[in-house]
Amino acid sequence: MQMDNDTKELSFIEVPFRCPLPAFCPICGAPAEKSRRVRAWEGIPLVFTYHISVGVPYCRSHYQQLAGLALRQRLAVWGIFAIPLISVLPAISDWDLRWLFWVGCSLSLFCLCLAFYFGMRLSASQGVRIRTQGSWPVYRLCSISLDWNRMVSVLVDKYKKEHPAKA
Ligand SMILES: [Zn+2]
Repeated sequence: MQMDNDTKELSFIEVPFRCPLPAFCPICGAPAEKSRRVRAWEGIPLVFTYHISVGVPYCRSHYQQLAGLALRQRLAVWGIFAIPLISVLPAISDWDLRWLFWVGCSLSLFCLCLAFYFGMRLSASQGVRIRTQGSWPVYRLCSISLDWNRMVSVLVDKYKKEHPAKA
């Protein structure tokens, strides 16, 4: 019985775009200090996509942990493109060094794997999952914490009462 209740509580909640989120960290429940953008998109890349970014409040230590992962991911993405370009430079002055380009390409592939790895770790450790709802002015949100999900439900109900026309 309790189990049924828990799975129901941990389902996705429909949240209007302007509705505030709880001022507590969704991972550990500590009072939140900083907001981080959590992004989600759906659709077909380069054809049509629904893209949203929601500011989720985190405590200081989880904010820093997520910011560190995001920075490493960004460096890896930068490396995918920058390393082959840099590795071709020595060959301009000395053609015998053109083999360095292949080393650069291998390192670039390695960076691609790292970028995927940090991206997966980032989405697994942010404590919330977000889904877009097409062109509707709402998104769907689910956290790993029952209490946090309940707080979101309460805030959404309150928001809908205060803004009946937009709900
Ligand atoms: Zn936390």
